[in-house]
Amino acid sequence: MKSFKELGVHKDFVKALDGLNISIPSEIQILSIPVLLGDRTDFIGRAQTGTGKTAAFGLPLLQSVDVSRNEIQGLVLCPTRELGQQIAKSLFRFTKFSDKIFTEAVYGGEKIDRQIGALRRPTHIVVATPGRLIDLLKRKALSLDKVKTVILDEADEMLSMGFKKELNQILDFVPQEANKWLFSATMPHDIREMIKEHLSDDAHRVETSGKTLVNENIEHKYFVCDEEEKLHVLLQFINSQYKERGIIFCRTKKATQHLAKQLIAKNISTDAIHGDLYQKERDKVLRAFKKEKLQLIVATDIAARGLDIDALSYVVHYQLPESEEYYTHRSGRTARAGNSGLSMAFVTAFESNKLRAYEKSLDISFERVR
Ligand code: AMP
Repeated sequence: MKSFKELGVHKDFVKALDGLNISIPSEIQILSIPVLLGDRTDFIGRAQTGTGKTAAFGLPLLQSVDVSRNEIQGLVLCPTRELGQQIAKSLFRFTKFSDKIFTEAVYGGEKIDRQIGALRRPTHIVVATPGRLIDLLKRKALSLDKVKTVILDEADEMLSMGFKKELNQILDFVPQEANKWLFSATMPHDIREMIKEHLSDDAHRVETSGKTLVNENIEHKYFVCDEEEKLHVLLQFINSQYKERGIIFCRTKKATQHLAKQLIAKNISTDAIHGDLYQKERDKVLRAFKKEKLQLIVATDIAARGLDIDALSYVVHYQLPESEEYYTHRSGRTARAGNSGLSMAFVTAFESNKLRAYEKSLDISFERVR
């Protein structure tokens, strides 16, 4: 078993990783880090979120920065604001014990003037959504002339969100010799086309088994009940949690809204977030939750992506997710920053079979609660 140090990660970063409970490198990290730290190369990594890919590209990226130069040396492109914020936060956390490396995240949906102002400060790495980056480039708010590394994270998501034109423009804008590291969960035709056009023919390719990392500090439990009993059982569970805060997951927007209403009717301070809310509305709910004005959030998987809330004591799967990757995402909302947490699923007898499949593929075990 290799350690991060053996993969070539600088000891200051290793120390920060230890503090984050990241001590055994994941598959994608083992496959990527030595390559990305080594010869300057283009790189194609097939990996999903939840596999540890942020550290897989983030550590080599940080290590490539020359802090004595006040220039943007790294560019990370990603599909959404939430993911951008999450990447920037991870990079920041990795540098807790190292020289200060400045990362700025820029994305749509926030005042551009503020981001233009922020970019005037020393910045080594920019994390950006493609549309906003183009806007900023047009306004000459930043220069990509000195960029040595460009990372495309969740490239397939960016293309399916319609950012093809923007990505092509950006890739034409960065220096020819910059290294391009592309990460994608899937390799559809348009990704392969983009690779052909912008990455070198001898780009290093790695593929992972797709196993996602599940935090070991999470207890996975489940309770079997009929659909009609779920609300009652949920209320009992919430009461047993002594006002601790948590997130309850449903599969659809309609289900989140319905459940939030039912909980409010029981005097539990709750709000729902789902993909149809404007960013502002979502932020408002999140602020209320962070300020502990809300005890619970009922959320869809999409809305909960990248939510950055520490110290959640539990998550509830009121409905099981569509894919097991989402199970990892959902349960990963608890047990953050070294805390422990509980991931509680309410399932029908029929659905409990699905949990057996999770146990196998995610390498976790569920305890049945009666
Ligand atoms: P990512 O796929 O980069 O979004 O990472 C998913 C989660 O796994 C994040 O919460 C990371 O902090 C965590 N993580 C990353 N690498 C490791 C590791 N080697 N061991 C344990 N947790 C990790």
